[in-house]
Amino acid sequence: MTDPHRMPGATHLECTGTGEEVESEQLIGLSAAGKPLFARYDLDAIRNGFQMADVACRRADLWRYAEVLPVRDPAMRVALGEGWTPLLESTRTADRLGVARVWIKDEGQNPTGSFKARGLGLAVSRALELGAEALALPSAGNAGSAAAAYGAAAGLPVHVVVPSDTPAPILEEMQALGAHVQLLDGLISDCGKVVKQGVEEHGWWDLSTLKEPYRVEGKKTMGYELVEQLGGRLPNAIIYPTGGGTGLIGMWKAFDEMEALGWIGSERPKMFTVQAAGCAPMVRAWEQGEEHAEMWQGAETYASGLRVPGAVGDFLILRALRASGGGAAAVPDHLMAEWVAKLGKDTGIFAAPEGGATAAAVPMLMEQGLISPEDEVVLFNTGSGLKYVGMTPID
Ligand SMILES: *Cc1c(COP(=O)(O)O)cnc(C)c1O
Repeated sequence: MTDPHRMPGATHLECTGTGEEVESEQLIGLSAAGKPLFARYDLDAIRNGFQMADVACRRADLWRYAEVLPVRDPAMRVALGEGWTPLLESTRTADRLGVARVWIKDEGQNPTGSFKARGLGLAVSRALELGAEALALPSAGNAGSAAAAYGAAAGLPVHVVVPSDTPAPILEEMQALGAHVQLLDGLISDCGKVVKQGVEEHGWWDLSTLKEPYRVEGKKTMGYELVEQLGGRLPNAIIYPTGGGTGLIGMWKAFDEMEALGWIGSERPKMFTVQAAGCAPMVRAWEQGEEHAEMWQGAETYASGLRVPGAVGDFLILRALRASGGGAAAVPDHLMAEWVAKLGKDTGIFAAPEGGATAAAVPMLMEQGLISPEDEVVLFNTGSGLKYVGMTPID
């Protein structure tokens, strides 16, 4: 007898480069063309019984959207309270920025203090369901913590390779969560090479961003939550601090799914990418009108989530910015720190520098005419300021 609680899951995976369809019930990384794979669902079949009113009284985490998540067996959900974070309106921030309304999606309230919990919660659950025996990833910090936590909860070993200048609190956190931590003199891209070696030699399952299909499925739930929390509508603009871009790409995917499900119409918010001035490959590619972003040399910023010199999903980020009428801006570290303090004072949220960067970008985007004073804006605070204590640059 089939379990009545079993979820339909994805019908297949689709290559984001070529559109090729791939079997979803196997452990698989990139497509044959070397591009990220997207999970596709039978949305027409799900539609009945999966409207906003149906999910309203469900559990207060991202598993409320189980019909559009890839995990089939509810026993394989590795849950620590991820998602359904508060969307907090701040009139003082709106006044300070000179826009109609501002909400802050406070992702710092996720397990391990960042929204990496969403993606890794899904990726680890799915790896468990498909039979992976050991997990690995390179990380600049927050992804490693989240992988360590979900690996521990799943009972699977986790190997994290991090740069040796990773903040001590994050190293301690990963160790306390039972991860095998390897320090490396180099950038996250160098760490990626060590992981690749472990994958070949020891059969580790690689959880690198967008190199497996399910972190983006976890992060897309931010799009569903925004619509639900705004009572069935979207804001005019979303400001997103972009490293690998998984969240921005995921939300853009979620909006298409929600349109097919009848939750929203064809309207879309303007999507904005914010990066650090010391590592801004996407902003540069955006300004030069490119389809892909070249690797950034000498990446440097204290916002470790933004210290990502190259992204496999670059073309998906740039496509979403263009299709939405959005744009991109680069913020220097001292401005991030300044806005972390302003946000803290105005809202009671101790934001990560990445969150500070989203507020700092608004005046720049207004100056370019991309955001207007009538706009209603959502800022993503992607992590807790507590994870960066001792790192803030002082002028
Ligand atoms: C990883 C990270 C980011 C970047 O997220 P992507 O979805 O990979 O672009 C932003 N902020 C924080 C705090 C992060 O940990």
